[in-house]
Amino acid sequence: MAKTLRKTALELIQLLARISAADDNGYCKCVSCGTINHYKKMDGGHYIPKGASSYWSLKIENVHEQCKGCNGFGMKHGTATQEYTKWMIDYYGRDFVDQMERDKKKVCKIYAADYREMIAEFRELIKYHEKRIG
Ligand SMILES: [Zn+2]
Repeated sequence: MAKTLRKTALELIQLLARISAADDNGYCKCVSCGTINHYKKMDGGHYIPKGASSYWSLKIENVHEQCKGCNGFGMKHGTATQEYTKWMIDYYGRDFVDQMERDKKKVCKIYAADYREMIAEFRELIKYHEKRIG
C-alpha cells in the first residue's frame, strides 16, 4: 500500500516540478543544459537522487525541470550533475544546498496518511498550473 502511494507521490512531484517551471505556453528550460522544451516532454529530475535520501525524495526543492537526456544518461555519465549543482546554488544559495547535503542522511519515515496528504497537495498544484497553461 505505502509502496503504491510512494510511487504515485513520486510521479506527481516530478510532474509538478516541470509544470510549475513552465511558462504560460507550457515551455521550460532544462536546469542542466538549458534545452527548452514543452513540459510534457521534459522530466522532473531529482538533485539528490530519490534512492539516496528519504528526507529529500519528496521535497519540491529537490526536484526540477530537466531534459530527458540530462536526467537519464547525463546525471550518471555526463556533466548534468555539476550543472545542476551550479543551478541549485544560483537559485537557492550555497547555504541551502550545503544544508541539503547535510540533511541527506536524515531518516524520514513517511506514513500512508502523509503520502495521501502529499498526493492531494501535489494534485491541487498541478491542476492550478494546468489551468494557467491552458
Ligand atoms: Zn538537459
